[in-house]
Amino acid sequence: MLKILTIVGARPQFIKAAAVSRVIRNDHAGTIEEFLVHTGQHYDTNMSQVFFDELDIPHPKFNLEISGGTHGVMTGRMLEAIENVLLSEKPDWVLIYGDTNSTLAGALAAAKLHIPVAHVEAGLRSFNMRMPEEINRILADRVSNLLFCPTEVAVENLAREGVTKGVSLVGDVMYDVSLYYRDVARSRSDALDRFNLKEGEYVLATCHRAENTDDPTRLREIGLALADLAANQAVILPVHPRTAKIMADQGLIAAMRNVKLVDPLPFLDMIRLEQSARVIVTDSGGVQKEAFFYDVPCVTMRDETEWVETVELGWNVLTGASRERILSAASSPARPVGKGHHPYGHGDASAMIVRQLLAGGLC
Ligand code: UDP
Repeated sequence: MLKILTIVGARPQFIKAAAVSRVIRNDHAGTIEEFLVHTGQHYDTNMSQVFFDELDIPHPKFNLEISGGTHGVMTGRMLEAIENVLLSEKPDWVLIYGDTNSTLAGALAAAKLHIPVAHVEAGLRSFNMRMPEEINRILADRVSNLLFCPTEVAVENLAREGVTKGVSLVGDVMYDVSLYYRDVARSRSDALDRFNLKEGEYVLATCHRAENTDDPTRLREIGLALADLAANQAVILPVHPRTAKIMADQGLIAAMRNVKLVDPLPFLDMIRLEQSARVIVTDSGGVQKEAFFYDVPCVTMRDETEWVETVELGWNVLTGASRERILSAASSPARPVGKGHHPYGHGDASAMIVRQLLAGGLC
């Protein structure tokens, strides 16, 4: 029996892990034993437990309950706690996702114990070393034995850093997820009615990147741009807890009276709203791609993106945090015809990942 220890901690990781876990349970129940470690990085019910319930993710065997603090404190505490779990469980593989502090702590703890590390979403780069995520990705990739790339660009990024061993192009597990849940969300979610939104007539927004939330000028520009947009259409902003707190502290909420500020949404409600939005305005990595998967134009409130294909194919526009540019891009979003090739694979990334883990990474 192959023993895989999966480390998750933040919302996008629960979603990605759901896809791979489903393949393990459905297709390899007799040959692979997977168990989850939840670091606790995201702990609010609506940032964590709802995803386990809704996406049928296995109950974590270990809940480390580590959240908050500085990056150093959080990552350090995780490193120590994950090492203890690894010493007692002795897995064959440690499976990590994305680019959070949980990803980095898992990678480091495993590598120091000589336990092979497999990184899902390897090779992404923003080339902005001020992003905590960029540091986490580069370091995690450096110590990973299997590097599962979502895009050709990710493979090229790794090659430029001299990393080719163990690298494979599998496609994006988020694309697998979007195919699996797109119709489920349409039939199960009543989010359009609940929020009184009409098909194709509203803006869906999210904002949580530190570069925006931790910079008062940028956050203000974003808040005011959303308020401007809300002057003549519905704008809904499911607010990340950190963003909500900073917006309140900054006194921004009053200026955004006409924006529907709601709690973070469960996944099915979120992708239901994505599918029928006129335009999506975001700084999230996952949401940029989901916009693309669901053929909805996207405005990305960042200066660069890891998901360059969405921009190259005309579905995504980078505006930075400029009120004027956000307003202009979201008021008349591009609607390109078609998508060319399949930049994010064919919806079988999770199956390819599990097959390679089983093969012991003999690639
Ligand atoms: N998401 C969600 N509810 C929300 C906001 C986002 O379910 O209120 C989902 C979204 O559909 C996507 C994922 O969370 O699948 C993206 O996570 P996030 O934006 O937190 O992180 P990032 O992708 O930027 O790393």
